[in-house]
Amino acid sequence: MIIQNVGLDSSARFAFQSHAHTDHFVSGEVIFATKATKYLSHLRKGGFYREVEFGKTFYIGDFKAKLYPAGHMLGSTGIKLWLENGTLFYTGDTKWFKLRTAEKSRFPRADFLIIEATFGVPSFTFPSPREAEKKLVAFVEEALERGKRPTLYVNQMGKAQEVMKILDVHGITVRPSREMLKVARVYSKFGVSFGNISKEGDVVLRSYRSPRIGDSLSPWELTVSGFGGLKLSNHADFWELMKIVERVKPEKIFTVYGFAWEFARILRGLGYDALPIERATDLDLLGIL
Ligand SMILES: [Zn+2]
Repeated sequence: MIIQNVGLDSSARFAFQSHAHTDHFVSGEVIFATKATKYLSHLRKGGFYREVEFGKTFYIGDFKAKLYPAGHMLGSTGIKLWLENGTLFYTGDTKWFKLRTAEKSRFPRADFLIIEATFGVPSFTFPSPREAEKKLVAFVEEALERGKRPTLYVNQMGKAQEVMKILDVHGITVRPSREMLKVARVYSKFGVSFGNISKEGDVVLRSYRSPRIGDSLSPWELTVSGFGGLKLSNHADFWELMKIVERVKPEKIFTVYGFAWEFARILRGLGYDALPIERATDLDLLGIL
């Protein structure tokens, strides 16, 4: 989305990058992001980043702006912009409930809301992170008791570190991939440390992209994802998205990513003024801001 040379997870002269997942990478003269997002992004790409802290007022292009933790992964953030005719909040990828390795999310009041809709239909109802954690630990402990080697398929950045931290808290050692280790080292710089990494670790962590994921999984393999076998997600489920909408109390909602069309239709059914948009949308051209 672009508004007057300011890109929201879109490339533009002044680009805001909400977090360090590659599908949110942007380019621009200056990229505004948190320090953690800058460090994590630099594992994979270059670019001139300007670090911005949560809760501090700054200017991006012509707009006053402020960042609010999004709770999706370390450093992930939403942004509030003060436009001529009202305030706008863009969530980025977001999570209502607190994860162990991400900052606790916060959501401001705003007149316009751009909200992610990755899981924007009610069939996506996830257990709370604590419930999902119990299931994960039970799965791993049962495998180990039976002398099996549990293998978890995870996103290498964000989810892998969340799972590593959960297992650390429960005294279980892990064998992550090299990429997951690189990311974990950056997490450690920001105070999220891991004391359970070992070449002989009890639990093997593999990437979603690993070729084996296409094959049928053995009883001791598990995909950790909102779409997978264990629904420990770093995205808001449908009900978390609804809580965010109620907190922000917007007059107008734009939905983006995933189930954007379906989520906007549901919101309209509930009496909200809601419209799905594409990532490349120029909000000036819509003429409604
Ligand atoms: Zn993401």
